[in-house]
Amino acid sequence: MTTEELENSSLLGKTVSQLETVMEAIGEPAYRARQVYKWIHHHNVDRFEEMTNIPKALRQTLAERFRIKTLELVYRQVSTDGTEKYLWRLPDGRNIESVLIPESRRNTICISSQAGCSLGCKFCATGTMGLLRNLTAGEIVEQVLQIKKLSPHRITNVVFMGMGEPFVNYQRSVQASRILGDPEGVAIATKRITFSTSGIVPKIYQFTDDALPFGLAISLHAPNQKLREELMPIASKFPLDELMKSVAYYTRAKKRNRVTFEYILLEGINDSPADARALLRLLAPYRCKLNLIPCNENPLGFRAPSPERMEKFFSVLLDAPFTVTLRKNRGEDITAACGQLAVEVGREEKVRFIRI
Ligand code: SF4
Repeated sequence: MTTEELENSSLLGKTVSQLETVMEAIGEPAYRARQVYKWIHHHNVDRFEEMTNIPKALRQTLAERFRIKTLELVYRQVSTDGTEKYLWRLPDGRNIESVLIPESRRNTICISSQAGCSLGCKFCATGTMGLLRNLTAGEIVEQVLQIKKLSPHRITNVVFMGMGEPFVNYQRSVQASRILGDPEGVAIATKRITFSTSGIVPKIYQFTDDALPFGLAISLHAPNQKLREELMPIASKFPLDELMKSVAYYTRAKKRNRVTFEYILLEGINDSPADARALLRLLAPYRCKLNLIPCNENPLGFRAPSPERMEKFFSVLLDAPFTVTLRKNRGEDITAACGQLAVEVGREEKVRFIRI
């Protein structure tokens, strides 16, 4: 099944105007579109028969022709630190994942925008899969809707940091985010929805020009072009200086918005005090925030630096003119690093259950 065929078969992830077209095609008045839209995205119903203000005949017609939810939960794992990992099977048999990270003041879901990824970052398990396909807007939104029902935590933040590069699947990721941030849709505050990109420069310009109300994070992971190119092949296409120009364009246009830089600390690779000093020089001119993320030990052989080494790295950045946060490892016992679970399942259909 292609992404387009899947799009046509489900009403989840369709905008009100796309639903109006559906209603028109089956001879129904346009106002039904908004009702159906709200039932699916705001009230999070699974079946057409739950839509009590829709005439029975229309509910039957819709049920015969369309689906609502299409992701099958393969399993849900809960880490000893509370991180929840979800593995979903798509209608065409592929697997994707989402992760919920509960914290004291917010609960963030990392969602996937693609099955697999074509960008091949060296530290990322998803990158070893190649791109299998783009997700539909519905499949992106549905990760949040299903987790809303399955998790005891109230979702406050959404970040495109699961499998895939959202700017390679730009239109669908944007459409999904609009529905997620719509008060009549999933109703998550738009400023709490963040696009995380590995640095697709033309799309950073487009994202800025489209004046979208969502946040922007850059997966940086190296303080210079040479190392970045070694870790992230996309950097040879969009070099670091071009990337930083596009970031400056974004921060100038979005006067109140800071950009977030994500930096995975990889032992012996990008974690020296010299790397920290180079990072400080690189980011100092920008209105930004830096998230340092210790690498979860992964099957590709990367691991986090020792606490002493991380401390040294962090201490170089203490006087930085921007906020620096050092995240705790989360969900290490359930392989909660980017793309790790789906790859494990893809290989052997077997995982360790922690607690369900
Ligand atoms: S880190 Fe992100 S962009 Fe890079 S290969 Fe993994 S999923 Fe793709």
